[in-house]
Amino acid sequence: MSFSDDSQHDQPRYSGVPTLLRLPYQDDFSELDIALIGIPYDGGVTFRPGARHGPAEIRQQSALMRRYHGVTRQAPFEQVRAADVGDVPMEHHYSISDTFDDITRYYSRLHKENVIPLTVGGDHSITYPIFRAIAKEAPIAMIHIDAHTDTWGDFQGSKFSHGSPFRLATEDGLIDPKHCIQIGIRGAQNTFEGWDFSLEKGMRVVFMEEFAEVGVKAIIEEARRVVGDMPTYITFDVDGLDPAFAPGTGTPEIGGITSLEALTFLRGLTGLNLIGGDVVEVAPPLDNTGSTALVGATLLYEIFCLLADRIASIRGVGRDSRGI
Ligand code: MN
Ligand code: MN
Repeated sequence: MSFSDDSQHDQPRYSGVPTLLRLPYQDDFSELDIALIGIPYDGGVTFRPGARHGPAEIRQQSALMRRYHGVTRQAPFEQVRAADVGDVPMEHHYSISDTFDDITRYYSRLHKENVIPLTVGGDHSITYPIFRAIAKEAPIAMIHIDAHTDTWGDFQGSKFSHGSPFRLATEDGLIDPKHCIQIGIRGAQNTFEGWDFSLEKGMRVVFMEEFAEVGVKAIIEEARRVVGDMPTYITFDVDGLDPAFAPGTGTPEIGGITSLEALTFLRGLTGLNLIGGDVVEVAPPLDNTGSTALVGATLLYEIFCLLADRIASIRGVGRDSRGI
């Protein structure tokens, strides 16, 4: 017997209404441990749009997600109560600051109910309004995988974009930069403003050359050291991966992380004090084969396993127990 309703896995995977990780859909999140949420918004992009279609396509590709983890044999759906709660209701698509308010309002309700959010974007701008809801009491730690530091200032007259969420979060005191690590950073720049902001504030910036030099196992240890036992959020921009593995994204940079390294890295984060996560920047209109959305769905599954394990360990139960 499973804690979450996972009976959909008994049906052919091409049948049924697509949901994130094939979880049941319900818009009432009050009884949940983990809510999976879509934010179909890409009004913050600086180059190619399309990530607004990310949640819908990741729901489609979630058909390939399954009950048991292939490496750890973890049964995440048995550990927690989880559901796809749908997309954040947004009333202000044409105003980025009002859209952020819509997002913050929704996540404040989740946070009040002690529900852990696991989000599918959307472009990366959405993480900042999430932090405004879940980190308002005290700054949190962050593990951030991305080709870009996303700590840039005004872009074309707007301080809100997918290039600025972690500058805004730092300035608002939502994240503690000394307990933030940014992994996979690379690519040429027009200015060094973003990189310099991260470094000057004390973030641990792992440029791609270092990652390639020391390898994923060393970076796991470094990430664990940086965040320690602080409440930690995982934010995964799919452009952290090499575009060979994830071409369907707005601002690709070659020379990135492999999909296997990404899975290995996430599995190395087990046991941390995790309080939420997101997968962003999957842009289906740029994803000719659907492979990037499958990558996104699989990363989502891996983060879900980490969060489920965290909840189960708080309850003091094992990986295959219902935990009640
Ligand atoms: Mn990003
Ligand atoms: Mn990026």
